[in-house]
Amino acid sequence: MIGIIGAGQLGRMLAMAAYPLGERVRVLDPVMESPAGHLAEMIVGPYDDAASLAKLAAGCEVVTYEFENVPVAAVKQLQQNIAVFPPPQALEASQDRVTEKTFLNQQGIATAPWAAVGSREELAAAITKLGMPGVLKTRRLGYDGKGQALIRDQAGADAAWAALGKQPLIYEGFVTFDREVSCLAVRGRDGQIACYPLIENWHHEGILRLSIAPAPRLTAAVQALAEDYAARVLKALDYVGLLTIEFFQVGETLIANEMAPRVHNSGHWTIEGAACSQFENHIRAITGRPLGATTVRGVAAMLNLIGDFPDLTTVLKQPGVHLHHYGKAPRAGRKIGHLTLVAEDHTTLYQRITTLRSVTGLARQPAWPC
Ligand code: AMP
Repeated sequence: MIGIIGAGQLGRMLAMAAYPLGERVRVLDPVMESPAGHLAEMIVGPYDDAASLAKLAAGCEVVTYEFENVPVAAVKQLQQNIAVFPPPQALEASQDRVTEKTFLNQQGIATAPWAAVGSREELAAAITKLGMPGVLKTRRLGYDGKGQALIRDQAGADAAWAALGKQPLIYEGFVTFDREVSCLAVRGRDGQIACYPLIENWHHEGILRLSIAPAPRLTAAVQALAEDYAARVLKALDYVGLLTIEFFQVGETLIANEMAPRVHNSGHWTIEGAACSQFENHIRAITGRPLGATTVRGVAAMLNLIGDFPDLTTVLKQPGVHLHHYGKAPRAGRKIGHLTLVAEDHTTLYQRITTLRSVTGLARQPAWPC
């Protein structure tokens, strides 16, 4: 039995990967009506409630989590009686952007230049030091572009401070990147490491819209650099499970933006597009099984369904398309499903994305590369 803290779509896809391996799954979530609760045994309760965590862990071989804001103290307490992977030090390293960037820099991994900001004076000092434009972000609990503001001038600095100034912040120099890519790497209990090819990601209004894998025009040198960085992080944290690092690519260099100690939205294509999915590899890793191959089957694109569904009959008529419906009610800005498209090569993939856009409402969403 595997226990998962959180019962969203990531927990649901983890459970779906665990069943063919002969595992049973139990999930903990404060909300009864949740995507993983539709298919796994469900405990309803707060993430930091000792009694709920004990119920989750009872009879489990291992506990994992599907989001990085799990209370560290709760995980440490749980760890006294049961294996918890990824380890709590991975949560500590990634929950706070200042801790995260400090950790990444200590591993020799480049980040945007940054400064911790705790007062209006420190913001002014950070702007003097790092210049404008820059991005002011909350240190904790930011996701999907929430809790951050782009600062271009002094008026922007005032507005950003007024909006965010009540909590601990970080100011980052603006990175003029060529593209955004993510690296998914997995480490087993025995220290074995495997990496998927880098993925190119397109965001709109702070939310991931489209991932393409392998990233087009990916060079061996950039892939090797990402794998080297991922291995440094995995080893430094004595990590077990799947880890995601998001990078800005500038020429042939990579600048780390953030990391997530969990399976990731940009890796959903691996269900159909890789020999072994990110979800199965995470389950294999945390249960001490050998890792699966991260080789790709052709090329793949992942399109998030956000807010509302397009006409799903039309979608399913398209060649090479796979629908993943999370069982959530549509709501503006909410990730309610995704589509994976697979093809033999990038040209065919782009044609299929273009066709899909033209026959569904998806065309209205972001500025896509094709
Ligand atoms: P984050 O929440 O850190 O992932 O930021 C959300 C998005 O904002 C990223 O995917 C980038 O597109 C953009 N962004 C964040 N930080 C920076 C930065 N320092 N320079 C340029 N763009 C950034």
